[in-house]
Amino acid sequence: MRKVDTTIALRRERGKIVLREFEWSTADAIGAPARFALELAQPLPDRCARHGRPAVRHIDTEMRMHTGFNGSPVETSWWSSFLESWLTHDPSWGPSTVGEVSGRRPMCARCMRQRAILHGIAYCLGLAGPLAPVVLFLAAQAGVLQSVSMPLILAFFPGWLPGGLAVALTLYARGNSPVRARPLTSASAMTIRAHPAFAEALAARCR
Ligand SMILES: [Zn+2]
Repeated sequence: MRKVDTTIALRRERGKIVLREFEWSTADAIGAPARFALELAQPLPDRCARHGRPAVRHIDTEMRMHTGFNGSPVETSWWSSFLESWLTHDPSWGPSTVGEVSGRRPMCARCMRQRAILHGIAYCLGLAGPLAPVVLFLAAQAGVLQSVSMPLILAFFPGWLPGGLAVALTLYARGNSPVRARPLTSASAMTIRAHPAFAEALAARCR
């Protein structure tokens, strides 16, 4: 099923301390990162945005955004922002969050299953790094491992840190946010790539 662009209204998040006003143009001028906190300004229908199926649960999510290549805030896939910081030779490690969009999202049974799987893989990946030295130590004690080889070191760095960890965080975020958002160009609306059934249900609510 082809996804369609669907617009959801946003507003400034209430009751949260905002470090700075929402202002990406002036922030560029003074070189300081703007931080914004937005939330969904309209209730979403009881259908998931990815599959268009009836929602079985609603979960509170916070979508992180970082500045993309074109200057607009884009949804942070942690992996993409790691790549970006490498490609632009930005010494700052990892994604530099410029803002968040929070809201309750409808999730169907399929979304919840995928979320559980993605989170499971993310936890395994995340734990692999801290556990590896323990396993290596035990292997060395048992005499199985004579010396730590170069490939093993590379597997840890940059393999697990930051590579594996970035993938883990990406999978985790993806589990909570099954649909992609287009780059943000306004503080009052967000466009997501949604299932047509979700778009229809949303339009019906607005009527
Ligand atoms: Zn779904």
